[in-house]
Parts: sequence; structure tokens; C-alpha cells
Amino acid sequence: MGQLMGFLNIEKKNQAERKPSERVKDWREYKVTMPEAETREQAARCMDCGTPYCQVGITLNRGTTGCPINNLIPEWNDLVYRGLWKEAYERLAKTNNFPEFTSKACPAPCEGSCTAGFVSDPVSIKSIEKAIIDRAFAEGWVVPKPPLRRTGKKVAVIGSGPAGLACADQLNKVGHHVTVFERADRPGGLLMYGIPSMKIEKKAVDRRIDLLKKEGISFKVSVDVGKDMTVNELNERFDAVVLCTGAGKHRELSIEGRQLKGISPAMDYLTANTRHQLYGEELKADFDARGKKVIVIGGGDTGEDCVATAIRQGCKSVVQFGKHGRLPDKRSNENPWPEHPNVFTLDYAYEEAEELFGEDPREYYIETKCFIGDKSGHVTGLTTGSFLRGDGEDGAERHWDADMVLIAIGFRGAEDRLFADFQIEKDSSGRVIQAESPSYQTSREGVFAAGDARRGASLIVWAIEEGRKAAAAVDLYLDRKLSLLNQ
Ligand SMILES: Cc1cc2nc3c(=O)[nH]c(=O)nc-3n(C[C@H](O)[C@H](O)[C@H](O)COP(=O)(O)OP(=O)(O)OC[C@H]3O[C@@H](n4cnc5c(N)ncnc54)[C@H](O)[C@@H]3O)c2cc1C
Ligand code: SF4
Repeated sequence: MGQLMGFLNIEKKNQAERKPSERVKDWREYKVTMPEAETREQAARCMDCGTPYCQVGITLNRGTTGCPINNLIPEWNDLVYRGLWKEAYERLAKTNNFPEFTSKACPAPCEGSCTAGFVSDPVSIKSIEKAIIDRAFAEGWVVPKPPLRRTGKKVAVIGSGPAGLACADQLNKVGHHVTVFERADRPGGLLMYGIPSMKIEKKAVDRRIDLLKKEGISFKVSVDVGKDMTVNELNERFDAVVLCTGAGKHRELSIEGRQLKGISPAMDYLTANTRHQLYGEELKADFDARGKKVIVIGGGDTGEDCVATAIRQGCKSVVQFGKHGRLPDKRSNENPWPEHPNVFTLDYAYEEAEELFGEDPREYYIETKCFIGDKSGHVTGLTTGSFLRGDGEDGAERHWDADMVLIAIGFRGAEDRLFADFQIEKDSSGRVIQAESPSYQTSREGVFAAGDARRGASLIVWAIEEGRKAAAAVDLYLDRKLSLLNQ
């Protein structure tokens, strides 16, 4: 364990971040690595409680409690405290294929359920995870490890987000030949086109893809499976197929004025901005917030990333609408430990908006009624309607000026086409119906599904978990198939 009584004697330090006033001037990551001495001190706060809820990874009251990939947190905390960094990395790599992504962008449900958090502040688990993986890369401990033997079995993974990458990594490790097909021109899924570079720099994604390639995984980009390659071709060439195609169907806001210029889906905006940075592609006027009054509709993480992106592009003002109320400052009685704490936080984009414009850009209990445009068909504003507020007050109708509006109201599950081609059944909310839980096999034999495509829009860490579990299911399936053939 860490230091005896460490959690009582040492104060929690949060993850090190660049100052908001500095980081808004560029597109580099806003989080930085905690210095060694500080990280070891923070690791000393782990009390080896005996029942480490931090690593359980279960769903309680519809929220995530503990780490979904069951990271061996108390073990690596102790190793870091003792300065055994390489051993700590080896423990971390046992359960997490991509700590460089989770340690930057995971909402850290582990910390919400840390036992120390029951009596004081939780251990800074995510900062410690980041320090371990950053050190592992810096020291050259993360090297390609191709499998020693090949099974001769071929698996196609469709989609190269964290679910597809984790699945491919696990299957390759046990010797199967894995080919990852990706519709976009670069692998990474939402890690590449979606999550902005302030959270995960694209060179970190490229670095991991490069390692996976050196380990023997084949990547085919700009291949839209179902269109550029038929389901029959896939079935003929591969022994198993895993669909990790994400939950890309976004929700629309079908209200008066939606057709006006200057109103765009958030994902189109974020993708265009990343492409502008990667390739210098020209930004369409609708995707350039410079000097504009921006309104983001939708109170979630995607909306937050739009706020941070608009700030970096030099917007004149930014407001974000959410339909729910402000979260309480402390846990409510209905949200006890070890559930994920549903409490108010000032996340990176909001901190930046406060620094620049002097206020939090979030507006609560807002319902957009209609968009208003000028004669040229460009949006000039919108009206928000009466909405029964959580505090019982009726919000009055209000007009808001806007030159640019981004719609970030969530996703509706996996795109239909490929699943229809495979004749795979989905439920009414767009999720893939599993033939046999937790086999990850769909209603079609030899075709599996994992990640957001299976569970609906979620988190990187859940996508990794799904990719790992689906890989184990595929391995078992191939093994059984092989045994039957040999009979
Ligand atoms: C803007 C935004 C910010 C986010 N921020 C965070 C965050 O900070 N922390 C966090 O934990 N999670 C975050 N998430 C959620 C997280 O990114 C997802 O849960 C995760 O990426 C899901 O992984 P996946 O592999 O299932 O799917 P995806 O990452 O969506 O990857 C699916 C891939 O499949 C490809 N594909 C689809 N159809 C085909 C086809 N027919 N042929 C070939 N390829 C195909 C797509 O092009 C895509 O690349 C964010 C999501 C968004 C949208
Ligand atoms: S992956 Fe997320 S939940 Fe797991 S230890 Fe890291 S920050 Fe915590």
C-alpha cells in the first residue's frame, strides 16, 4: 500500500493543466504530466482499502462506478509510491491497451468511487495513470511486441475507434491475422476525428497506430465497408468479423429555420476543424467561429468541445444551452458514494470561457423553439421557448443573437446500412441485439459487435473494455471452430 495515513496527511492535488489564458492560444493538449515527486506523493494517498471500488467497473444507478477495464489501481499506486515505474507500467498495460488516451480524456469513474473519497478527497488516479504512461513512452518501454506464432485465422475489424483498436490488439496478441477497415482517411475513430486535439493530440493517436502496425495489424483506410467492399467479400475472406462502427447517427433538431446557413451538426464542425489542423484544408465559413456570436445547443461533452474549439478559433461570444438544470455542488442523498458523483464541475472549456468572457457559458433548462434568419438565408438568432424550470419557475420566451449555431444534442446509435447488409437485428434505440450475452456475437453467426455500436454512445474506457471482451469472444469462437474442424 501507499503511505500509512497518507490519505489523511497529504492533500489531494488535481491533474496538472496549462493555464486557460495560455492554452486557448493554441491547439495543444491542456493537461500536462504531474512532476515525479508530486505523483509519488499523490500515490502515497492510496490506503489499500481492501475492497477497491476504484477498480470494480460496474453500473450503479445508471452511472459508471469504478474503472470499466478493472485497472489494477492500488497495485500501481503502490509501485509508483515506491518509485518502481517500469513495474507500474507493466501492471497498467495488463488491463489497459491505451492508457495514453484514458489518462487524458477519461472522466475517471475510478476517482468517484475511491474509498478515500468517502472520508476525504479521492486519490488522483488519473494523474498517476498519466504519469506512468508518459514515463513509459519517454523511457522507451512501450515497444512493438509481435506475437511469437500465428494461428492462421483471419479476422476483420470494421471501424478503428478505441473499441476496434483494442479488439484488434487483443486478437493480434494471440496470433490471429487482423485487418482493420476504416472509412475515414486516418485510423482512430473519434480519437482522430471527433475529440479535439486539446484533449488528445493526433500525434498520440498516430504513435499508437504505428505500434499496432509494427505488431502485425493491417490497416485499410478509406474503405467504406458495405459500399467499397461487400458483406459477401468479407465473409469469404475472413473467419470472423467484428463491427466496431461507433454510434455515428446524430440527433437532429427539426424546428423552424433549421435549413438556414450557419447552423451545423457539431460533429461536422469538429471534424472540419481537425482536418484544417492536420491538412491545412480550408475551413468553410460555417465552420469558422472567428468574430462570431456562437450558440451551442446541447449540454454534453460534444457541446463542451465545440465551446473550446470556438474559443480557440476566436469567437466573439459563446453560449451553451442545456435542457437540464445545474448539478449540485455536493452529492445529493440520492447519489451516495460509491456511485459516480453527479456534481457540478468547471470543466476545461468552461474554465476557458470564464477566463476570456468573465462567465460560465452554460445556460440551463433551455429549449430552442425556432431559428431566425436574414434575407440571404443566414441565421441571425434563435428563440428559446417557455420551459418549466427545475426550480418551479417558468422561463420566459427569449431571443438570442447568433451568427453560428452548432447542434450537439447526442447520438441515436449505430448507422443502419451495414447492420442491414448483414441482416443483424437492432433494438428500437438503435443498439445491436446480442444473440447470446455476453458473447458479443450478433444475431448473425461469426459476426460480433463492440463499442458504441453495441452499447450506444459512451466513453473511450467502455469502448476499450468492449473491444477486449469481444476479442476474447472471437478467440473462443475461432478456437471452437478449429476444434470442430479437427474432429
Ligand atoms: C466530440 C466527442 C468528444 C468525446 N469526448 C470524450 C472524452 O473526453 N472522454 C471519453 O471517454 N469519451 C469521449 N467521447 C466518446 C468516445 O469518443 C466514444 O465513446 C468512443 O470513441 C467510441 O469508440 P468506438 O470504437 O466504439 O467508436 P468510434 O470511435 O466512433 O469509431 C468508429 C469508427 O468506425 C468507422 N466506421 C463506421 N462505419 C464504417 C464502415 N461501414 N466501414 C468502415 N469504417 C466504418 C468510423 O469512421 C469510425 O472511425 C467523445 C465523443 C465525441 C463525439
Ligand atoms: S481508465 Fe478511466 S476509470 Fe480506469 S483508471 Fe484510468 S481514469 Fe480511472
